[in-house]
Amino acid sequence: MSKIILTGDRPTGRLHLGHYVGSLKRRVELQNSGDFDKVYIMIADAQALTDNADNPEKVRQNIIEVALDYLSCGLDPAKSTIFIQSQIPELCELSFYYMNLVTVSRLQRNPTVKTEIKMRNFEANIPVGFFTYPISQAADITAFNATTVPAGEDQEPMIEQAREIVRRFNNIYGDTLVEPEILLPDNAACLRLPGTDGKAKMSKSLGNCIYLSDSEEEVSKRVKTMFTDPDHLRVSDPGKIEGNTVFTYLDAFCHPEHFTKYLPEYSSLDELKAHYRRGGLGDVKVKRFLDAILQEELAPIRARRKEFEQDIPTVYEMLKHGSEAAREVAASTLDRVRHAMRIDYFADGQLIAGQARNYQSQQ
Ligand code: ATP
Ligand code: MG
Repeated sequence: MSKIILTGDRPTGRLHLGHYVGSLKRRVELQNSGDFDKVYIMIADAQALTDNADNPEKVRQNIIEVALDYLSCGLDPAKSTIFIQSQIPELCELSFYYMNLVTVSRLQRNPTVKTEIKMRNFEANIPVGFFTYPISQAADITAFNATTVPAGEDQEPMIEQAREIVRRFNNIYGDTLVEPEILLPDNAACLRLPGTDGKAKMSKSLGNCIYLSDSEEEVSKRVKTMFTDPDHLRVSDPGKIEGNTVFTYLDAFCHPEHFTKYLPEYSSLDELKAHYRRGGLGDVKVKRFLDAILQEELAPIRARRKEFEQDIPTVYEMLKHGSEAAREVAASTLDRVRHAMRIDYFADGQLIAGQARNYQSQQ
């Protein structure tokens, strides 16, 4: 069986470090590994509209931001098909059929949907489109026969829902769809990178992000004001590592060679943590270290972005080309789905001839 990746992001803002460690960095590695037959990267504008219906301009303007972030991180249109969700109408039709295979109570139990409804204060005013977005996500994944979805931990319930839909579909209509698997980050700190304010998740909607396109000064400012241990007031105080955002980021980004380069008096992160726990190590020093690491990681991304920003029409051309290629694949899956669901009437010569014979013999 082919190994196929599908994953993507909502164009609701520029991409941030959470996207980067949760999925984007891994995608680039997988794209370059040669282990996958196909890589599809989707800008999920239709999904973004499910909770931004009244703000289409926001979604429209952010398509290019997400595309630029992709290219600057190393996604390569020669190796990956990068496309825009709304340009593939076949996805809507698939969702429409999958809706018959999911119950309302099953959607209500989806923990990510629950959290996101709370986060957006939807309460009783949940748009139906938003409520059913896990189904549309199943359509996105299965349309491309994806086997692997590299994503952050928040996506786990979505993939589980997609797997259920695939099993139900194949059970009723015969083996047609491929069951996907989530590929979570190996590093625990990257499963759900917290915001700079210490909140559970760095998220565009919460305004607690370091963006991949932030300037050097903006990154430093964000690091300087980052949440640490509120009880660690004096340098001599013993400090807590758990829930300390600076250390979580170090868990996500720090490699042994960073110590040789920027903090040679320590040999490992464990040693740095031990000192912080004992007391005698100030936040400023740890933050300076993190800042140096982040700047090193982000500088080449920022520089590449500047180059791509010089040629916006070419980026749109790439998205158009990617969307056309993606549409062909989705259309071929939809053909198989229609056939399996027995709604391919005009392509079924046997159906027509058989019924014609039946009626003739009755005369
Ligand atoms: P929104 O607030 O509009 O939902 P978001 O910041 O949650 O935006 P998404 O576009 O929903 O971003 O997520 C895209 C991908 O990035 C998903 O695979 C998701 O798991 C991953 N991701 C987003 N935020 C984080 C994070 N803080 N840590 C790890 N992965 C993340
Ligand atoms: Mg999200």
